[in-house]
Amino acid sequence: MPHLDAVVVGAGFSGLYMMHRLRQRGLNAQGFEAGKDVGGTWYWNRYPGARCDSESLSYSYSFLPELDQAWHWPERYSEQPEILKYIEHVATTQDLRRHFRFQTRVTTADFDETADLWTIGTDQGDQVTARFLIMATGCLSQPNWPAIEGLADFKGETFHTGLWPHEGVDFAGKQVAVIGTGSSAIQSIPRIAKQADVLFVFQRTANHCVPAQNHAMDPEAERAYKADYMAKREQARHSFAGDVVPELYITIMDLSDDELERELDRTWGQGGFYTQYPYTDIFTDKRANDRVMAYSHRHIRSRVNDPGVADLLCAKDHPIGTKRLCADTLYFETYNEDNVHLVDLNDTPIRAIREDGIATSDRAYEVDAIVYATGFNAMTGALTSVDIRGCDGRVLKEVWNDGPVNYLGLGVHGFPNLFTVTGPGSPSVLTNMVSSIEQHVEWVDRCMTWLGDRGATRIEADQEAQGRWVGYLNDSANATIFPLANSWYIGANIPGKARVFLPYVNGLKTYRDECDAVAEDGYAGFAIA
Ligand code: FAD
Ligand code: NAP
Repeated sequence: MPHLDAVVVGAGFSGLYMMHRLRQRGLNAQGFEAGKDVGGTWYWNRYPGARCDSESLSYSYSFLPELDQAWHWPERYSEQPEILKYIEHVATTQDLRRHFRFQTRVTTADFDETADLWTIGTDQGDQVTARFLIMATGCLSQPNWPAIEGLADFKGETFHTGLWPHEGVDFAGKQVAVIGTGSSAIQSIPRIAKQADVLFVFQRTANHCVPAQNHAMDPEAERAYKADYMAKREQARHSFAGDVVPELYITIMDLSDDELERELDRTWGQGGFYTQYPYTDIFTDKRANDRVMAYSHRHIRSRVNDPGVADLLCAKDHPIGTKRLCADTLYFETYNEDNVHLVDLNDTPIRAIREDGIATSDRAYEVDAIVYATGFNAMTGALTSVDIRGCDGRVLKEVWNDGPVNYLGLGVHGFPNLFTVTGPGSPSVLTNMVSSIEQHVEWVDRCMTWLGDRGATRIEADQEAQGRWVGYLNDSANATIFPLANSWYIGANIPGKARVFLPYVNGLKTYRDECDAVAEDGYAGFAIA
């Protein structure tokens, strides 16, 4: 059984950087990746229109300054092929692929308390032992297939946005159904509508969505950014959102109606998350949020011709931004096309999938293809789908049955030498994720070095420190209006999943300071042996 210093699971942004750091230190590390190649999110999510909504100039690694200078992103928010090309380039130039075994899913991990070693098993029959197990398995990597009766009976083509065929899909001449209206649907619907003969969109909950305002990369913006790259990266690292974006400085409730209208015209013009970055009270004062929502609804109504359809597309059940905000390119205008039909599942719920299409409570929709844009078992799904067993036979999935518990989002009591990159309880999905990934990878690397220097073979989160951390997470989330939404942030998209707010809400800067303070205090809150 090969003995390793570390096993890294996943070859997306997280796993690749983790491997790079471990190899730089001369450690013997093995990676496993379920996909055929590197890329993670950007390997799997190849649906038409898939792109980032973090600015491309900052949605990339910061540890390769020469590449930062040389790389050209063609658009403000680049499409999936461009992001994948970048990740592949990093893997090739840093020679990372040879440390990963691809098409290999880690299925089991057992901790041996006497030897302080993990034994890791895969679906290909591998068995390796390693001192450290680093789960870089992604927050949005476990696709969610909805529990709809008859799903397997459909005789046409079935797709999930998070598992899109690499050869692409041609919808020309077809009748197509899309189920879901989250970010993936909002990006893919305008593209699918252009090809398909007929498109039915099945909407259960309307999502808040603002224009992305994507455009070709502005050469002057690129030049200015690159000229000041290192400072910008440093700023992002120590910012709330992990990005070089406006920090909180405007209080909505201080503005008159006219002032607010002008202010929102300005940020809607910038697009995407710029419509929420500057506002101090958008997530803490429902009245402020309601005013922004009213503006957003007016905006949508101005883009959709049919007032009834426009009304259905206006999200009303949750404050704006408390489900992840969607950024669109001509999404609402798509409903002005004759071949596009919105089906309101609140009025007419789906009863079943049939051989030839979808049956709702009032009619049957015959289609050639169904696209499930139904999201992910977010933040915990990829972790709990591995049979991870720690001390005294504890099983991670069972320990987390009532919601994930951990310390700093990085370590779990009862599971020594296990690190979770962008684990629940860390800022991850509420930030530019590459910044949060780098912060975690660097913290883990520093911790492993510190342990190695002392000849320590074991680190484990204290139960008491973990309890305090979980309490702090909950208190922080409850001071915001995020928990008001039935979002995947709170596990509400997966039937039976515990309702616990999963990400850390106080921003990357504060979080980084807290993690650094723990490290500087000799990893206070962890038991070291
Ligand atoms: P992932 O990229 O998810 O990689 C995890 C890898 O682990 C996957 O390849 C998976 O196959 C593998 N894996 C999981 N379990 C196992 C196992 N048991 N065995 C072997 N392999 C396993 N974030 C932003 O900050 N900005 C954006 O604009 C943005 N856009 C996004 C758009 C889409 C369509 C999606 C789905 C997500 C987006 N995100 C965005 C979030 C995105 O997931 C992160 O930014 C980032 O790519 C995550 O990298 P990662 O390496 O942590 O995880
Ligand atoms: P999502 O936001 O979870 O949306 C899933 C959609 O499917 C929702 O509209 C949901 O409706 C619907 N749905 C789920 N089960 C259903 C059922 N049984 N019947 C009918 N409808 C059902 O998933 P996503 O769109 O894939 O996005 C997930 C996350 O990935 C995003 O929030 C974002 O973080 C990331 N992402 C980012 C981008 C980007 O722009 N950069 C693009 C894509 C994804 P309900 O709301 O009613 O549950």
